[in-house]
Amino acid sequence: MLMKKNGAVIPFALPIEDLEPEQHAASIDTPMRADAFALAPDEKIARIEKHFRGIMETLGLDLTDDSLQGTPKRVAKMFVNEVFSGLDPETRPEPTLFANKFGYKGMLVERDITVHSFCEHHFVPIIGKATVAYFSSGQVIGLSKLDRIVKHFAARPQVQERLTEQIAAELKRVLRTDDVAVLVDAEHMCVKLRGVKDECSSTVTTHFSGRFEDAEVRNEFLIYHKR
Ligand SMILES: [Zn+2]
Repeated sequence: MLMKKNGAVIPFALPIEDLEPEQHAASIDTPMRADAFALAPDEKIARIEKHFRGIMETLGLDLTDDSLQGTPKRVAKMFVNEVFSGLDPETRPEPTLFANKFGYKGMLVERDITVHSFCEHHFVPIIGKATVAYFSSGQVIGLSKLDRIVKHFAARPQVQERLTEQIAAELKRVLRTDDVAVLVDAEHMCVKLRGVKDECSSTVTTHFSGRFEDAEVRNEFLIYHKR
């Protein structure tokens, strides 16, 4: 307990008016500059290579060493072409939908989709799995497209909460239904390797909407997720 000067006790929880106000309106979009795509990918790679070389040199590393020589370019290519490729809307997967000819009415669950992302606060990996589910609104999606949607939004600097919301919003858009569920369970290297150095923790985030707001439906999803 904290004491005010006049002896009054301040409870641990801050009164709501003392909390930081929301600085931005709620948005699930990745914060991007208006000129985000003014540079061609090759130009981005060239610039990042130069900047990463600067970081390595500042750390005192000898860039003439043959083991280190290629690192700036390697990192730059990895950022643009691989781990942050999902920033580019051009890489957004085009879903293939089929008519639900078989009249399948059950829940479709795609589980244990690999999530490889990067924490936007520390630029170290987030590694985990996602389980997604939906009820058909008349059409069904190619199963691999569910994996591709997850991987597209994971390939960005992320926070897990936004990743979960972006996947859910895309599933709703593509599948033309609100009846979607997303669960992401991931380990954050920024928690494991630095700071608090907690080896064992993992983070779970969920989005349940439409029919998944019903407790029974949600529980069915969670049973499939857990096995
Ligand atoms: Zn972090």
